[in-house]
Amino acid sequence: MGFGERRGAGMLADLLEKAGGCAVIDGGFATQLEKHGASINDPLWSALCLIKDPALIKLVHWEYLEAGADVLVTSSYQATIPGFLSRGLSIEEGETLLEKSVKLAVETRDKFWDNVKEIPENSYNRALVAASIGSYGAYLADGSEYSGSYGADIDLAKLKDFHRRRLQLLVKAGADLLAFETIPNKLEAQACAELLEEENVEIPSWICFSSVDGDNAPSGESFEECLDILNQRDRVSAVGINCAPPHFIESLICKIRKLTSKPIVVYPNSGEVWDGRAKKWLPSKCFGDDKFELFATRWRDVGAQLIGGCCRTTPSTIRAISQALRKVEKIDDL
Ligand SMILES: [Zn+2]
Repeated sequence: MGFGERRGAGMLADLLEKAGGCAVIDGGFATQLEKHGASINDPLWSALCLIKDPALIKLVHWEYLEAGADVLVTSSYQATIPGFLSRGLSIEEGETLLEKSVKLAVETRDKFWDNVKEIPENSYNRALVAASIGSYGAYLADGSEYSGSYGADIDLAKLKDFHRRRLQLLVKAGADLLAFETIPNKLEAQACAELLEEENVEIPSWICFSSVDGDNAPSGESFEECLDILNQRDRVSAVGINCAPPHFIESLICKIRKLTSKPIVVYPNSGEVWDGRAKKWLPSKCFGDDKFELFATRWRDVGAQLIGGCCRTTPSTIRAISQALRKVEKIDDL
């Protein structure tokens, strides 16, 4: 099993090869928008910028490309048709914004690649655009992407219905791959995997789970159960973990490595903890960009093939990861 089985999947295999076996994903999106002064205290979160400040979205994509990202993740994590409807937008407007999230990333990638491709010995690869598909919990914006508790009236069909239209639009808009993110339970993983088949999606995809205990999916279901469902689905190109603290990652890679032959994706958060009462981030006890640099090579060595950052990581985190991974490649090449 691997990337080579489907026609569209060759693109991801090519990127991994060009990147020396391990590609770099970008980092936290909302974090960087906020650094530039965007106010995203809203249920739509970074999707709000699609309406208010698309130029800023392009700037953040550009910063991650400069930092060495091989994969750009679009600003659609919390962009959903029901979410836009609840803000008073029409279906058509919501659909246009979803397509726009892909187009902004594609345009930025193309412009960046035009700028660097002729520079001799530049270390960049032509990046792929991964359309972000946040979990149902991310749309609810009630923290359930970290508990996996969707309630008794949510079933497989409802989760597929929730994801279907957005997935269709993101594929049609020209994404290179689909990134299902912070999936908290087995049921939603199954819904996403079945939807890829029902919709006959030809581009590659990854499905990433969050983890709050470092051992299981947030729902408490084991990764063995979760991955059993995905292993049989060859439209799921890669699997992994996002938005878990970095100190969980090495052991989770080792665990997942035994449970699947699919490539493994990891993009942890910075390890900072959100203090809901004080409404601020508590500093990470042990993780700065220097640690990411150190750990990225360990994560690669134990089996991860796509490595990046999630919440609270920045272009400097991604630069550290990219330089660490590429440095070792160069030594191997000698
Ligand atoms: Zn995150």
